[in-house]
Amino acid sequence: GPVLGIETSCDETGVAVYDRQRGLLAHALYSQVELHAEYGGVVPELASRDHVRKLLPLIRQTLAEAGLAVKDLGGVAYTAGPGLVGALLVGAAAARSLAWGLEIPAIGVHHMEGHLLAPMLEDDPPEPPFVALLVSGGHSMLIEVEAIGRYRLLGDTLDDAAGEAFDKTAKLMGLPYPGGPALASLAETAEPGRFRFSRPMTDRPGLDFSFSGLKTQVLLAWQRSDGSEATRAAVARDFEEAIVETLAIKCRRAMAATGARRLVVAGGVGANRRLRAALAGAGNADAFRTYFPRLEFCTDNGAMIALAGAIRLEAGQHDDPQIKVFPRWDLESLPAVI
Ligand code: ATP
Ligand code: MG
Ligand code: FE
Repeated sequence: GPVLGIETSCDETGVAVYDRQRGLLAHALYSQVELHAEYGGVVPELASRDHVRKLLPLIRQTLAEAGLAVKDLGGVAYTAGPGLVGALLVGAAAARSLAWGLEIPAIGVHHMEGHLLAPMLEDDPPEPPFVALLVSGGHSMLIEVEAIGRYRLLGDTLDDAAGEAFDKTAKLMGLPYPGGPALASLAETAEPGRFRFSRPMTDRPGLDFSFSGLKTQVLLAWQRSDGSEATRAAVARDFEEAIVETLAIKCRRAMAATGARRLVVAGGVGANRRLRAALAGAGNADAFRTYFPRLEFCTDNGAMIALAGAIRLEAGQHDDPQIKVFPRWDLESLPAVI
């Protein structure tokens, strides 16, 4: 039967219903972005409390949109980690209680597996084996996906994640929170090439990333500049170029190293227009296919959790009826789905 998916790992409450036969039946998202804006970042305790306030109404709303009653559900999936412990516990407690009351199975989903499988919510979904570029607020990883659940880390960030680099750079240029999307839209108004920022770690072999040095380069360029609006846009544009080109170089390298024919891109930075265009272009040049989630499923959402949970529940996997979360959780430790 249909699976209810619940996402509460950070600052968005996401709920969805996914059915392995009929696909995505309904989804809803509540973002806490305004709540945290005045602090310039996510405040964990406020996040937990807001999930408590919003989760049950959102579940009711999503079930109504799907035309389902709770008794129609066949399973419940919730984000069990990684993420903020208090926020995770809200989703886990609700999911576990619902499953217990309905006597249906529940499964804790790895948030990054959710991101990684999100392109499978679209038509013509990617089939493993493939390489995945996961670029989000907390992660920048290249992963070889042999099968669902069989993940091998090819590259990781040594410092800031790609999304974190967008957010911090936006902040130091005085852009409003959340910075990533604001910086990307400002960049749209400028031509590239006024500034030249480095493409970190592309001058040596390997698939790891490092983005924190770029931040410093931007800070110096911005402080030494005339501080005009046009300059701010030009800096944003060239910073974005540097990140996008660095990611594209590493993706091409990963594709060549593994011989994979499919590249899956997911996570919040996957919503970046220029990144999508650059990777699609790289795929055309090197004869690999690229797969992206729709824009709204790049950032956190309940649909990706419902999908990942439905796949695992269908394979007979589920967890004991305990409310357990994993603020830190290694993606490579997940069981394979066979
Ligand atoms: P994680 O998934 O690693 O736990 P998260 O859940 O906070 O982190 P996501 O929701 O996947 O991250 O993505 C949010 C990140 O994506 C933020 O850092 C945000 O700045 C970035 N982001 C969103 N849209 C864009 C865009 N158009 N261009 C660049 N970055 C973007
Ligand atoms: Mg978020
Ligand atoms: Fe996320």
